Amino acid sequence: MNHSDYIGRFAPSPSGDLHFGSLIAALGSWLQARAHRGQWRVRIEDIDPPREISGAASRILQQLERYGLYWDGDILWQSQRHEAYREVLERLIQQGQGYYCDCPRQRIQQQGGFYDRHCRDRGLPADNAALRLKVDSPVTHFTDQLRGRIPVNPALAAEDFIIHRRDGLFAYNLAVVVDDHAQGITEVVRGADLIEPTPRQITLYQQLGWTPPAWLHLPLALNADGNKLSKQNHAPPLPEGDTLPVLVEALRFLGQTVHPAWRDLSQSAFLAEAVARWQPSRLPQQSAVPGTLNNSAFLKASR
Ligand code: GLU
Ligand code: ZN
Repeated sequence: MNHSDYIGRFAPSPSGDLHFGSLIAALGSWLQARAHRGQWRVRIEDIDPPREISGAASRILQQLERYGLYWDGDILWQSQRHEAYREVLERLIQQGQGYYCDCPRQRIQQQGGFYDRHCRDRGLPADNAALRLKVDSPVTHFTDQLRGRIPVNPALAAEDFIIHRRDGLFAYNLAVVVDDHAQGITEVVRGADLIEPTPRQITLYQQLGWTPPAWLHLPLALNADGNKLSKQNHAPPLPEGDTLPVLVEALRFLGQTVHPAWRDLSQSAFLAEAVARWQPSRLPQQSAVPGTLNNSAFLKASR
C-alpha cells in the first residue's frame, strides 16, 4: 500500500469520558496511522441518544487534544448521517436483501440466542419491526493484522442480523460500515471486544459490493476483576494533569519501547518518538491488567 493512502480512525461513542481503555484504542490507531504517514480521522458515534451523556462528545475531543492526539479533517458525527444510512437500507431492501421481523427477544433467546430466520418470507411491513439482513454467504473467517486467521462461529456468521432497530435507531454494524466506507478507511484499529461483530461488518461490505478495510484488534485493558475497563464498570476518566506518565503506561501496555529520557521530553516530542519507535509486531494479543497502573490511585478508583 502506498503509505500516504492509509486512512485510520478512532470512533468513540459519547456515552462517557475517555478512560485508560479508550486511550489504548485512540493511541494505537493514531500511532499506526502516523507511522504510515496516513490520515487519522475521528468519528463521534452518536447514533444512540438514550445512551449518550450530555457533554461527553466535547469532553472526548478535549481529552484527545490534551493527550496530543490531533486528528485530520472534519469530525464525522453519526447523528448527521441518517440520510446516508437510510439510502443504504433502501438499497438493501430493493435488492431483496432485507426483511422486517417482529420477533420478541425472548423467542430468539429460547432458541439458543441465534435468530432462526422466522420472518424471512412473512412479508411483514415496516411498522414496529426490525429490519434484518438476509445473509447469503456467511463469512467463515477473516484476517486480523495481529492475530492472523480468525475463524468465525458458523451460527453467528449465518445469522440474519439487525441493521435497523425496531425502536427506529440505526444498528451499530450498519452505521460503522457505511461510515468507514464513506470515509475511505483502509484499516480499522480498535479494541478486541469488537472482534465479534467484525464478520457481520464484512458481510455487509460483501453484500453492498464494497471492499472491506484491514482489521487490527488491540488487546483490552482489564480491571482487577478481569473485566474490560469501561464506562459501564466505572473506569475513571483519563487524568487531566500530567499526561506523559499515562501515555508511557499506554505505550508499555501496547508492548512498545519507551524513550529512556521520556520525562525530559515535551508531549509532542514524546509522541513523535513513539511514532518512530512504533512496531505493531510487538503488540501483545492478550488483554491484561495494565502493569504499574495496578498500584495507582488511577486504576484503583475503578474497582
Ligand atoms: N463506537 C464504538 C465504541 O465506542 C467503536 C466502534 C468501532 O471502533 O468500530 O465502542
Ligand atoms: Zn422474526
